[in-house]
Amino acid sequence: MSVASSPFAADTAVGEVVADLEISRAWLVDPATGREGPGEIVVTDGMLESVVWLDGDEGSGIDERGVVVAPGFIDLHAHFREPGNEDAETVASGLAAAAHGGFTTVCLMPNTSPALDDPAVLARVEAAAGASGSPVRALAYGCVSAGRHGETLAALGELADAGVVGFSDDGSSVSSGPLLRNALAYAGALGLPVVDHPEEASLTAGAEANDGFVATVLGLKGWPAAAEEAAVARDIAILADVVRDVPGARLHLTHVSTAGALDLVRRAKSAGLPVTCDVTPHHLALTDEWLAGARRWAWEASGDPWADGALTAAPYASALRVNPPLRTAADAAACREALVDGTADAIATDHAPHTQVDKDVEFGLASNGISGIETALGVALAAVDGGLITLRRAVEALTVGPARVLGSAAVGREVGLVEGAPADLVVFDRSDGWTVAAEALRSRGKNSPLIGRELSGVVLLTIAAGRVAFDATA
Ligand SMILES: [Zn+2]
Repeated sequence: MSVASSPFAADTAVGEVVADLEISRAWLVDPATGREGPGEIVVTDGMLESVVWLDGDEGSGIDERGVVVAPGFIDLHAHFREPGNEDAETVASGLAAAAHGGFTTVCLMPNTSPALDDPAVLARVEAAAGASGSPVRALAYGCVSAGRHGETLAALGELADAGVVGFSDDGSSVSSGPLLRNALAYAGALGLPVVDHPEEASLTAGAEANDGFVATVLGLKGWPAAAEEAAVARDIAILADVVRDVPGARLHLTHVSTAGALDLVRRAKSAGLPVTCDVTPHHLALTDEWLAGARRWAWEASGDPWADGALTAAPYASALRVNPPLRTAADAAACREALVDGTADAIATDHAPHTQVDKDVEFGLASNGISGIETALGVALAAVDGGLITLRRAVEALTVGPARVLGSAAVGREVGLVEGAPADLVVFDRSDGWTVAAEALRSRGKNSPLIGRELSGVVLLTIAAGRVAFDATA
């Protein structure tokens, strides 16, 4: 297909300003105003010049099942592996993958090698992002602890001055209560959140799969929900203590995956504590049944893949090894319910690319993580297609939700279909689908359990800060 033949192509190379683009008769979703419906947009010289909503007959025949225009997505949690493990991902390949997934802003975790506990490492990441030519905005968290060793605080003030958007020891929980207490207080004084990966490590030593029926039958060592719930309870209790002295303290819990942990967050929010959380696409839609060889969505699962004849793939696929592990259908339902009722503020990908070498080993020895930034939209749309969440809520959780977690200063733009602002948006076609394949992924990490699966929703165009980030016709 030639570029000119598509009305949804920018006719411009990646990185260049979108000079002139008109998208007519699409379904617009603007979570900033809560409005969605048929409409048209015009982009001129990189600016979103007009957003026109079509009323009555003008909009007839246009529905949310066709071409959708939404603000560019924001990912609160991604691993781009540079510096230190560029075989798994580079900043450039990660940004290309992000754009292919519809993301225009990504927040990178600091568990690189060396860890991002020093402004010099941030400068390397920013230089790599600049050199990539991608207009996708790469933001980064700094470490909570020096070297991510969990012993002493990193230089949070210096990192904040250098431009990090929060602090995390992701990969692990902040190791001790006193360290978390100090981190919440200092980060709060700096106006930044602490992003914790909730896992009580003493309960997960050697753990391989969610503790339960599937792990027992497969002979995998159980990973108890209690490990996550104990950490979430600790974090919230410490936050409650810290906010009395430091009202600006903020805690964000990432990849929350159990019904019990989400209930703890729900109660803390209703008590008025400054806590937010995200859930991942894989915890919304996949379950531990997949380890046995089932490949049905969580909302179709029964919990016993052997009884139902659901097995369609080999067991122990290491692409499914992830931290926290894939949970039960009831936990996945709790993740979706948390999105619906606002307990979960965002969908974050936890994009965790790995090399084949780190994955082509026995299940329990494989590195944890799923390469997921390019399939997040398709998985979210599967939940929309299944009637589990609305399209508008899915878009909110990928845009204004994460923007609120970060704060407007960090995001640096108004998130929405804002006339007169630099265009920052994604165009995708829900009437079309694609087959996830290693060659189709821009990420160097091919460790996706969705390889071979058809996902609905094809990203046609991603525009970040007025520039082309991805164009399907290019
Ligand atoms: Zn994590």
